Amino acid sequence: MSASSAQLKSVLEPQDCDELTRVLGERVCFDHPLADYTSWKIGGPADAFATIHTEHELAQTLRYCDRRSIPWFVLGSGSNLLVGDGGMRGIVFRLAGEFSTIDVLTEDNRVIVRAGASAGMAAMTARAATAGAYSISSLAGIPGSVGGSLRMNAGTDREVGDFVRSVRIQSPRRAEPHAVDVRYFYRHTSLARDAVVVSVEFSFEQANANDVRQEMQARLIRRKNTQPIAMPNAGSCFRNPEGEKAARLIEAVGAKGWREGDAQISELHANFINNCGQASARDVATLLARARRAVYERFGVKLQPEVHLVGVFIDA
Ligand SMILES: Cc1cc2nc3c(=O)[nH]c(=O)nc-3n(C[C@H](O)[C@H](O)[C@H](O)COP(=O)(O)OP(=O)(O)OC[C@H]3O[C@@H](n4cnc5c(N)ncnc54)[C@H](O)[C@@H]3O)c2cc1C
Repeated sequence: MSASSAQLKSVLEPQDCDELTRVLGERVCFDHPLADYTSWKIGGPADAFATIHTEHELAQTLRYCDRRSIPWFVLGSGSNLLVGDGGMRGIVFRLAGEFSTIDVLTEDNRVIVRAGASAGMAAMTARAATAGAYSISSLAGIPGSVGGSLRMNAGTDREVGDFVRSVRIQSPRRAEPHAVDVRYFYRHTSLARDAVVVSVEFSFEQANANDVRQEMQARLIRRKNTQPIAMPNAGSCFRNPEGEKAARLIEAVGAKGWREGDAQISELHANFINNCGQASARDVATLLARARRAVYERFGVKLQPEVHLVGVFIDA
């Protein structure tokens, strides 16, 4: 994982910056650090960073990137991302504005939630719980956006995909957002790489709202007691191998507390790595590799990252 100077150079021409500014105005900036947009508080600069408010702006931006072969990346809440210290080439954008709405209604003993992709899972689950959405507690405490959580099929004992009724996406080759069928797997989906989720409709059985809220509170308290949620991290770093817990394997090799720079494997939950100060992506990547190697040497199990490693990683 070493970076050449070419990998660190912006891929944007002055005409690209002018066109992006024409479409997005002040909501695009250039050579912009990404650390503030990730839960790890780590990440180098994006050539361009934009906040997109409307479906029209999204379609225009994607079409422009497609025409000019500019790489792009959609960021949700950044709670499952390790962004390299060398940053990301091309344009990184997040959705906001009209993508943040949440509407809840009840029909035929079901709670229907229509959420824009940039709505927070915390707000979505709170609103759904108030309406008595059964099993919503499985999604409580996931700090992502609806779009990112759909892409990841995030969850606990039950997952986002268990409750989805329909998904709308925008892709570079279609003028309008459209519905797609999505298949859901453990922490990933069949969504095409160039699909940007714009909205999701969820459907839950309706139960007693007080019971649902109590169950949700209990789950949130359990999380607080078992996960270092006050620290900058990205939740579980590795997927659980079939029939096993990644945290148990990492703990069993004695990795709790291992440190690299300001990155540390949590003492509370071995599958979490905390940024204890000024950790770099390189620090975290080194710890990930150490834990993975130790688990493989002891148990013969190759842990697979759950966090997405994106952008340019720089060796010391
Ligand atoms: C304290 C903590 C606890 C966590 N607990 C859990 C848990 O219990 N269960 C669990 O599964 N995860 C958990 N996570 C991980 C993370 O919250 C989930 O993976 C979350 O769903 C990611 O959503 P996000 O918006 O942050 O996505 P990001 O991290 O921003 O992005 C993740 C991926 O989704 C893509 N993406 C983002 N938005 C869109 C969009 N609109 N359209 C298409 N693709 C998009 C990105 O390009 C990227 O590939 C936890 C994280 C933390 C920090």
